[in-house]
Amino acid sequence: MADPTLAARLDVSGLGARFDAVTAVADLDLSLAPGSFTALLGPSGCGKSTTLAMVAGLLAPTTGDVRLDGSSLLGVPAERRPVSLVFQKPLLFPHLTVEQNVAYGLRVRRPAGVGTGRASRREVATQVEAMLERVRLGGLGRRRVGELSGGQEQRVALARALVLRPRLLLLDEPFSQLDADLRAEMRALVRELHDEAELTTLFVTHDQDEAVELADTIVLMLEGRLAGEGPPETFYAAPPSLAAARFFGATNEVHGLVEAGCFRGQGLLEGALTVPTTAPHGPAVLVVRPEAVGLDGEVPALVTATRFAGSDVLVDTALPDGQPLRVRVPLGARVAVGDRVSLALDPDRCSVFAQEAER
Ligand code: ATP
Repeated sequence: MADPTLAARLDVSGLGARFDAVTAVADLDLSLAPGSFTALLGPSGCGKSTTLAMVAGLLAPTTGDVRLDGSSLLGVPAERRPVSLVFQKPLLFPHLTVEQNVAYGLRVRRPAGVGTGRASRREVATQVEAMLERVRLGGLGRRRVGELSGGQEQRVALARALVLRPRLLLLDEPFSQLDADLRAEMRALVRELHDEAELTTLFVTHDQDEAVELADTIVLMLEGRLAGEGPPETFYAAPPSLAAARFFGATNEVHGLVEAGCFRGQGLLEGALTVPTTAPHGPAVLVVRPEAVGLDGEVPALVTATRFAGSDVLVDTALPDGQPLRVRVPLGARVAVGDRVSLALDPDRCSVFAQEAER
């Protein structure tokens, strides 16, 4: 397994990719500390795979640089980069056995800066066997890959990537084709392998839950650009932008006006809803998650629907001016459709954005 000191620092600066008229990635800056686990998150088509392809060396950037521990990788071919990439599909050689698939990279390639020369047959066999144990495929080395389940195939792909002792591991939606249970299991495995080997890992996903569960840092991309970066909690508690808040979903949006350092409801909400903010003066949108709203405040609302949500209840309300606001309350709270309630918005968990930031 990789030496802990192998985990590399990745710096991406001003990275851009254009395909004719399409700008897939624009001016992307990104830094991954050695040993960190970062999720590159964003909707389909936002440029995640293109970014990974540029880091891996499968695509030459139109602009910018990719540096590993300070050295530029531009011009270094993919097979010479100490980087392993696992794709959505395992892309195994169907005519080879599991161990032959895992050994393949070791036989033909050894990344620059890691070890010297090719490994002997015995070394390869030992490393492959150990790696198969690590991904819980011990004893299956002689199987043909066609006889494996989807989850097992992805484990082989992981083993094949990790046996090369990469300094940076790139994963491009590796579990999106697996069912939910298996996906959860594979996530746990990847995180475990990352922690044990002290790899630097960049994991592409369009699934917020996956990003939140796995990563120390989330990098959100929207339309080819960086749209926020930080620990998962930040995206819930203080989203960096309205677009980021919307991508993370399950938020309420209330329209109003920022005046003198306060977001204020307008019209029928005037005076009832005020939240301190540093957002600029003018029309604004307040974002608050349902769990940051209580029923013991001063903002009048009418209950329009209630829905059992497992461990709690979602209560839909309408503010006096008709704007909807969803509240999450504990099971057993006595709320019924038609009730008049008084909402409390936790000011520390409200985010306010200028209206012009709305997309
Ligand atoms: P998904 O989650 O669906 O894989 P993504 O976030 O990984 O999406 P990319 O595959 O990086 O997005 O694509 C970003 C944009 O670049 C898209 O508009 C896509 O159509 C375009 N694009 C990607 N590769 C090419 C290519 N080889 N030629 C032309 N356009 C491309």
